[in-house]
Order: sequence, then C-alpha cells, then structure tokens
Amino acid sequence: MIKTDIIIVGSGIAALSVANTLCKNGRKAVIITKALKSSSNSTLAQGGISVALSENDNYNLHYNDTLEAGCYKNDPESVMTLVSKAPDVLEEFIKTGMKFDTDEKGNLLFGKEGAHHISRIIHAGGDRTGLKVMEELFSRINENITINENEMVLELRVKNNECGGVITRDNHGNINSYEANYTILATGGIGQLYPCTSNDITITGDGLAMAYRADIVISTPEFVQFHPTMLNINGKTMGLVSEAVRGDGGILINQDGVRIMEGKHPLKDLAPRDVVSRVVYDHYLKGDKIFLDISSVENFNGRFPYVSEICDKNGVDLSKNIIPVRPGAHFHMGGIKAKPTGETSLPGLYAVGEAACTGVHGANRLASNSLLEGLVFGRLTAENIMSSDRTAPRFDDEIPNIQIEKLPDKNEIRNKMMEFIGIVRYKNKIPEIIKWFEEYIPSGSDKPMGKIDFTKTTNSEFEIYNMLTAGYIIAKAALKRNESIGAHYILDKE
Ligand SMILES: Cc1cc2nc3c(=O)[nH]c(=O)nc-3n(C[C@H](O)[C@H](O)[C@H](O)COP(=O)(O)OP(=O)(O)OC[C@H]3O[C@@H](n4cnc5c(N)ncnc54)[C@H](O)[C@@H]3O)c2cc1C
Repeated sequence: MIKTDIIIVGSGIAALSVANTLCKNGRKAVIITKALKSSSNSTLAQGGISVALSENDNYNLHYNDTLEAGCYKNDPESVMTLVSKAPDVLEEFIKTGMKFDTDEKGNLLFGKEGAHHISRIIHAGGDRTGLKVMEELFSRINENITINENEMVLELRVKNNECGGVITRDNHGNINSYEANYTILATGGIGQLYPCTSNDITITGDGLAMAYRADIVISTPEFVQFHPTMLNINGKTMGLVSEAVRGDGGILINQDGVRIMEGKHPLKDLAPRDVVSRVVYDHYLKGDKIFLDISSVENFNGRFPYVSEICDKNGVDLSKNIIPVRPGAHFHMGGIKAKPTGETSLPGLYAVGEAACTGVHGANRLASNSLLEGLVFGRLTAENIMSSDRTAPRFDDEIPNIQIEKLPDKNEIRNKMMEFIGIVRYKNKIPEIIKWFEEYIPSGSDKPMGKIDFTKTTNSEFEIYNMLTAGYIIAKAALKRNESIGAHYILDKE
C-alpha cells in the first residue's frame, strides 16, 4: 500500500491546472498517467481558449453563446462560473508568463470559431495552443508533484460509500494500491471509442468506466461531439483541421466547388459543430468528397503551422488551396457528474476536465471552451481540496472473483459505435448495439460490466473492457433520451 495525500489521474490540462494550484501552495500530489506525460488531448489542441478579454466582448456574451451552442441543455450556474472567472484566470496566466499570440504592438489576437458571435479565441504558436499551454504548465510544476508515467489506473478504491485511492498497474506489470485522502479523475473523454477521431490513443473512456463500476452518478453520456473537419486521407482520419481555419475564412465545398453550408444555418460554415458535422456526414454518405477551401485564408502556413505540417506529411498539396475533410469523434459533453469545484457523488472522489460533466457544455460544446474548463475548474477543484480536511478511510482491497470470458477487438467496438451511436442515430436500432454489448458481460457480475478480477487481464484487455463499458453506458443513455437535440440527433423520433 502506497500512502499519499492527493492523487491526480491523467496528465492533461485539467490535471496540470489542479497540480499547479496545489504545488504553488505547498501541497504535495502524485500524478499517475497511462502513457508518457505528454500523451493527452490537451497537448493536441489547436484552435485556442475562449475568453471575454477583447474590448467589444464581455462574459455575458460568452455565456449566451455557450448556452446557445449547448441547445440550452447546459447548467446555467456552471456556465456563469466558467465564463465569469475566465478573464481573471487567463489574465493571471498571461501576467505570470504564458505567451499567447499578439500583434506587433503586443495586443492579444482573437480568433473566431463556430457558434461564437464574436472573435474571442486566444491562441499560441498559431495552432499549437495545446502544446504551448501544456509546456508552460509543466514548467511550473515544482518538487511537490511526483509524476508517474506509464502507469494505468484500473479501479477506484471504494468502501462504505467513500473513495480511498486507486489501484494501478505499471508497465512492469506490478499492481499498486494507493491510499489517498483525495482522488481526482482527470482522464479525459472517450474519442477512441470511434473509428475516426481526433483523440489521443490513450483516451478510451477509462474514467467513465471506473466511475460506473463504483456506482458514481454519470450525467448525459449520450452527448458525444463530432468535429466536422478531420484531415481525410482515403477514408482515414490523420488529425484535426481546426475550426479556426473556418474562422479565418475557410469554407466547406464539395467536389464540384459548391458551398455545402449555404442555406443550412444562418452562421453557414461557422454554425455549431453538430450542425456542420451532420451536413458534412450527409454528403460523405452520399459518396461526395468534401474539402475545406482555404483560398481566402491569409498566410495559411504562418497562422496554421501544425495543420500545414500534418497536411504536408500526408501528401496534401496546400498550394491547391483545398484540404480533404470528414467528421470524427472529438469531445464528450457527458461524463462523471461533478460540480465546478470537482465534487462527485462519491465523497473523496473529484472529477475535472473532459472526464467530468459539470453541465457547462450542454448538448453541444462551444468551440474552445474545453481548455478553458480544464484551467478554471482545475483551479477551483484544487482550491476546494486545499480548504477541506479529509482523511482516507482505511480498508483492504477486495478483488472480485469475476473473469472476462471474451472480448471483441477495439475496431469492432469502434465500428459498432459509429454505426449505432454516431453522428446520426435511429432509436429503433440502438437496442441492437446494447444486445451486442451484453454478449460481453462477464457472468456472475453484480451489474452489467461490473468489477472484474483485473489481476487476470493485461492493461490492453482492461482498456477494451473499459471501452465496452463506456460504449454500453452511452448506448443505454441514448436509448433513454427521446428528444433529438444537439449531439444526440435521432432520425426516427416517436
Ligand atoms: C486534436 C484536438 C484539438 C482540440 N482543440 C481544442 C481547442 O483548440 N480548444 C479547446 O478548448 N479544446 C480543444 N480540444 C478539446 C480539448 O483539448 C480537450 O477537451 C481537453 O484538452 C481535455 O483535457 P483533460 O485534461 O480533461 O483531458 P486530456 O487532455 O485528454 O488528458 C487525459 C489524461 O488522462 C490519461 N488517462 C486516461 N485514462 C487513464 C488511466 N486509466 N490511467 C492513467 N491515466 C489515464 C491520458 O493518458 C491523458 O494524459 C481539442 C481536442 C483535440 C483532440
């Protein structure tokens, strides 16, 4: 048993924001992360961070755009907390050394993205915002924080409705049990449950699955956001083409050069993501080829160096001014129900970032609100922990004698998810995927996809079990929701 005060699971922006606040106030914590510390969606983020800092903006406008994009399914209080605290948090981040892109006079540059009625996205390194922000956050970590790489968290330690730490397996195959006063899940979303995704390879819904096994309340998991413009090379997704490209004048066209968003939404190419994704997907299913026409984007290579690099690597000739695109899974609006200050339904367990559902994103996330969520709610979670006083309950680990009997491979799960719980859904087909998931429920389980004997699996098998569990949770919730709204778009409503 390893005893510690605070455990943070994951090494993305949410985890680092918690860790930074803790360590500068002298609190110690251990970060446990599945792969290298740089493996996260946060590092891949391109477009930027939305914040009401420009002269003609204020946080009430940011609030309105967030609710409108979220189809008013958001939690208004959480949204207000996020947007109203954002200017101070970002101003302090900048004052203490974070460099966002500016004009030659040193004024911040504000980009525009879908569903924002105003330019309010600050960015760094052009389209390398995630990398630059993460480099800055890692540079601020001091000796109070220990980072364990290549260690996968398998289960939460729970007894008598209290969380007392986590159980992990490191890359030597050792099972470790950590006793902690505070456990924070910052494991990100579920993108790898789909065949086409912008997400890092480690993002397999582990946090959601662990929370489900521990009977923690989960909120709106059916809301999965697809991004309309992934780089499409022969049907394969080779990375993201940021929405900021459309914000700077990029337009979506078909193989005949016809604008596909014309007449589809008043904001056209900058309509909310769910709307644009459906239009692109519709064309894609009809066999059309869809491109992003970048001829009106000024200084494309300078403004979007990362997109230029991935285009180059994949043989896309940017001098032709068109980039082949298709939609892919991008963000999970649902997740572990949590407050902006991190508390979940289980005492001792906190959730933050994309793994959490605080209600800020509603049925469809507003572009560039996610890095912001990690920064702001990460800090609030750390402050909350610092002002509380908790001692981990003492108990021994119990490993159930339940074994996985069979597992599909990851691609089978991904293809099923896309077919049944993708951009467009048919309610009368969802029971089919639920039945398919149920074939994999281990016998003797206390509930479908319940706790298993992890000592009898490899990490890779356990990851598949987590993907099955997360997919099952999403499918069950999708079947329950009758209204067609935001990212849960159903074509055969009763
Ligand atoms: C290509 C791309 C571009 C994006 N661009 C933007 C943007 O411009 N602006 C914006 O606001 N948002 C953007 N997003 C969304 C945003 O990046 C993410 O929502 C956000 O970074 C999530 O941060 P996080 O800290 O919650 O999770 P992540 O950054 O995803 O980190 C999760 C961490 O948990 C680890 N982990 C997972 N399971 C386990 C386990 N079992 N044990 C141990 N560790 C585990 C992972 O390895 C990872 O380190 C983008 C996303 C992608 C993929």
